[in-house]
Amino acid sequence: MSEEEKRTALQKTEEELRRCEACPLRRDCLAPVGGFGAADTPLVLVGEGPGGVEDDYGCPLIGPSGQLLDKALWAVGITRDRIYTTNVIKCRPLNNRTPDIAEAAFCGARFLEKELAVIRPKIIVALGSVALHYFGGSDLRILRDRGQWFLTAGGYPCIATYHPAYLLRLTGKELVQAKWDVFHDLQAALAKAKEAEPAYVFKSEAKINLFDLCKKRERT
Ligand code: SF4
Repeated sequence: MSEEEKRTALQKTEEELRRCEACPLRRDCLAPVGGFGAADTPLVLVGEGPGGVEDDYGCPLIGPSGQLLDKALWAVGITRDRIYTTNVIKCRPLNNRTPDIAEAAFCGARFLEKELAVIRPKIIVALGSVALHYFGGSDLRILRDRGQWFLTAGGYPCIATYHPAYLLRLTGKELVQAKWDVFHDLQAALAKAKEAEPAYVFKSEAKINLFDLCKKRERT
C-alpha cells in the first residue's frame, strides 16, 4: 500500500470508529479516540486508553502523560508526527479506571488490529501493562518484562516500557530510574526501527505541539 492508500484506509477506520457503540464503554466518554501520526511509519506506540484530556481533544497521549512521552521521544530522536501513536481501548473508561483484559481484547480486535493491518509497522512499543498484556499475554509483568523483545500474535516485534502515567506517580530515585528505563527502551525500539527502515526520518526539525493540531470537541 502507498502512503496515500494507507492514509485513506486509516481515515475509513476512523470514520467507523466514530460510529462505534459496540460496548458499554462508549456510554461514559465524549467519543472514541483514534490514532495520531504518520501512516507509513515503521514505529507504532500503543498505550492503554484515553484519559480525560485525550477524550476532550480526540487525540491519544495529549494530556500530562503525552507531554512527558513527547519529552522522552524528543530526547531519543523521535517526534510524534513521524510515528503513529494509538491506544488498545478507544473509549475512556469511567473515572479513568484501568480497562480489563476482556475490554481490551474486544476493542483491540475491532480497531487497533485494523490500524496495524494498514500501517504494518516494523516495531511496536507497548506502553504499560494493558498494552503489554494485549500483545504478549496476561502472564507478562511490566515491572519484570519491560525492555524485553517478543513477537506479537500478529508477528510484530514488540518491546514494552512503562506508561508515562506511571512515571507521573513516581518521585525521587524511583522516578529517575524509571525515566532512564523508558529512555533505553525507546532507544532500543528506535534502533531496531532504523535497522528495518534506514532511510526513514523519525524526528522532525521542530517539536510538535499536539494542542496546535487537535481541537477540543463537543459531546456527540
Ligand atoms: S471501547 Fe471500542 S468497542 Fe467499545 S464502543 Fe468504544 S470503540 Fe467501540
